[in-house]
Amino acid sequence: MALTPEQEAEIESARAHPRPTLRAVSEGMEAHLYRAHPVLDHGFIRVVDYMGDDSAIVQAARVSYGAGTKHVSNDEGLIRYLMRHWHSSPFEMCEVKLHVKLPVFVARQWIRHRTANVNEYSARYSVLDREFYIPAPENLAAQSKVNNQGRGETLAGEEAARVLEILKSDANRAYDNYEGMLGQAQPDGSPQQGLARELARMNLPANVYTQWYWKVDLHNLFHFLRLRADPHAQYEIRVYAEAIAACVKDWVPLAYAAFEDYRLGGATLSAKAVAVLKRRLAGETVDEAASGMSKGEWREFTALWG
Ligand SMILES: Cc1cc2nc3c(=O)[nH]c(=O)nc-3n(C[C@H](O)[C@H](O)[C@H](O)COP(=O)(O)OP(=O)(O)OC[C@H]3O[C@@H](n4cnc5c(N)ncnc54)[C@H](O)[C@@H]3O)c2cc1C
Repeated sequence: MALTPEQEAEIESARAHPRPTLRAVSEGMEAHLYRAHPVLDHGFIRVVDYMGDDSAIVQAARVSYGAGTKHVSNDEGLIRYLMRHWHSSPFEMCEVKLHVKLPVFVARQWIRHRTANVNEYSARYSVLDREFYIPAPENLAAQSKVNNQGRGETLAGEEAARVLEILKSDANRAYDNYEGMLGQAQPDGSPQQGLARELARMNLPANVYTQWYWKVDLHNLFHFLRLRADPHAQYEIRVYAEAIAACVKDWVPLAYAAFEDYRLGGATLSAKAVAVLKRRLAGETVDEAASGMSKGEWREFTALWG
């Protein structure tokens, strides 16, 4: 379970006492505030604070543009213009703070996004819970034959059952030993000093859950979402990115729509790809050899353009 009943009650109590404010408020984000959205088997994301809305982006852009924005007639148009032309700093005027519970191996990928502020649960100070990510059977897949960094067909039958059993039993054995090393008594009852928490944790596998607060501005959040909500991202981080994206969509609907259009749904073309498209539009048949592209580039190009 992602949250205990006490934690759920704390969240409901925080939501039960709204206060009036003069600050910009996004109705869409207010609906998410504090609530946990479950991800994977024990994880979640929840918005614990945010600053700004679509109008904060427009407001900042108009200050920096001065009189130059007069020809941009509406907020939506301006936001789309900013997104299209990589004028990113107005998007940095919006910020969000998330509480995330995630497996350590997902945290290792996530932490590579340096343009955010993080504070992680201390396993030097506190004892970690017996919570490990065990993939659902449909997410237990074989190594991909075409992508060294991906997975292929779903494991089936006895192999799937054996792998799941290994994952579960290794996690439980490691946790039993973690508890055993921390404890003041050995299994036979004889006393021991108890190993420091900061050392005992090193034996836990990378599917153990950790938690952190993660604060990021909207520009860098979009960068994170573009990389991690992408189908090439590992499933286990992608589902977190998708849960966050759903909140962002409600928070800043105009900015999110522009992001969906230009970044998530858009494509970047190399000069070679532009040249091939032009030749094709002129009626020429261009194959891989004539394209000047590498095998990998051509595969990606044809996946997009046929
Ligand atoms: C599909 C996928 C596969 C990956 N595989 C691997 C892998 O095999 N091994 C691996 O190590 N990583 C891997 N990564 C991580 C990847 O290389 C990036 O580290 C990660 O995506 C964070 O991106 P970022 O640096 O742009 O983000 P951020 O750290 O948030 O930075 C955002 C932008 O700020 C600028 N910036 C931030 N810090 C600096 C700095 N110190 N100096 C200069 N500019 C800075 C850069 O322009 C950067 O693009 C993978 C990522 C993805 C999405």
